[in-house]
Amino acid sequence: MSTAIVVGSGPNGIAAAVTLARAGLSVTVLEAADEIGGGTRTSELTVPGVLHDHCSAVHPMGIGSPFLRSLDLERYGVRWRWPEVDLAQPLDDGDAGVLVRSLDDTAAGLGPDGDSWRSLFGPLADGFDDLAEDLLRPVAHLPKHPMRLARFGSRALLPATLLARRWRTDRARALYGGAAAHIYHPLTQPAMASLGLMMIAIAHRYGWPVPEGGSAIITRAFAAILAEHGGTIETGVRVRSLDELPPADVVMLDVEPGAAADILGDRLPARIRRAYRRFRHRSQRRVPVLRGHPARRRGARHGRAQRRDVRAPVALIAVSDAQDAVFCVRALRRV
Ligand SMILES: Cc1cc2nc3c(=O)[nH]c(=O)nc-3n(C[C@H](O)[C@H](O)[C@H](O)COP(=O)(O)OP(=O)(O)OC[C@H]3O[C@@H](n4cnc5c(N)ncnc54)[C@H](O)[C@@H]3O)c2cc1C
Repeated sequence: MSTAIVVGSGPNGIAAAVTLARAGLSVTVLEAADEIGGGTRTSELTVPGVLHDHCSAVHPMGIGSPFLRSLDLERYGVRWRWPEVDLAQPLDDGDAGVLVRSLDDTAAGLGPDGDSWRSLFGPLADGFDDLAEDLLRPVAHLPKHPMRLARFGSRALLPATLLARRWRTDRARALYGGAAAHIYHPLTQPAMASLGLMMIAIAHRYGWPVPEGGSAIITRAFAAILAEHGGTIETGVRVRSLDELPPADVVMLDVEPGAAADILGDRLPARIRRAYRRFRHRSQRRVPVLRGHPARRRGARHGRAQRRDVRAPVALIAVSDAQDAVFCVRALRRV
């Protein structure tokens, strides 16, 4: 039997491990931390009884990704919960842009920008499943839906700041800008429009669900599927070099570029090793806001968001100007 070692048990690492195990390989996952999950860990970080997702919290792709759908995560205890309001962007003047799953309701809340919102996101949401088939695979491939991909690309390749100019109101611009700002690059660069388009299209197709009990539930389900296929996970094992690993037919690294450079050492061409070491994540700052906080109430006035997920720039995201870092506020969910 062929063997595989996956270093790192974040969601991508375990997803890779599951894929390899389903293909019949004997898989071992090695994780440095004492707990699996990487960015999908969930724990009581502040107030007892309140579970925080350390990084990822909202999982539209949990429903929208063909791979995740194929896992039947519900069978492993994942229960999706949909908020009434998927996203709200409170503005400094007390107004807010509000996104709900219904395209028509969202458009109705955007006043003069409603029609433009509908004409852009309606076709993207309707064709999302086809689009996902092409977008969620390696970049170099023969597209299955070339026309749809080309139509998406004509907008996605723009800087987010340029795309946002199609809207006149702060509500629409902030709503799009907040979604676009999930990308860790300046919104003025080419192709930075893409993520915001995807995130809003999927919101109108599937909504932005959260898993009951926090994101850790998802990776635990992955781990259960892996175990069913004979795979194992060892925690508390930090891999420092490929030489430490037992022989394996496949070794996959799901770690940061700097860690990969250390582990691979001289096996990487010097130019790539230097680039990996130079790589710095741009920051997305998250401030947890508990129920009753003024920032949260502000969002709530404009939607039904008070019990829901509020991801908002504290100040208006001036998507007409260059923005590098965006200050995000996310409300906590009580579980
Ligand atoms: C603030 C924030 C909010 C986010 N919100 C969302 C969201 O709402 N929805 C969403 O879908 N995504 C969100 N993301 C993104 C999401 O968290 C990441 O895309 C995801 O965690 C990446 O998964 P990964 O498996 O590639 O890596 P990671 O989750 O980073 O996992 C890497 C794992 O490798 C381990 N590791 C590292 N080095 C070694 C080593 N040398 N040996 C062994 N193990 C090692 C680490 O301990 C870690 O467990 C957010 C990210 C951040 C930072």
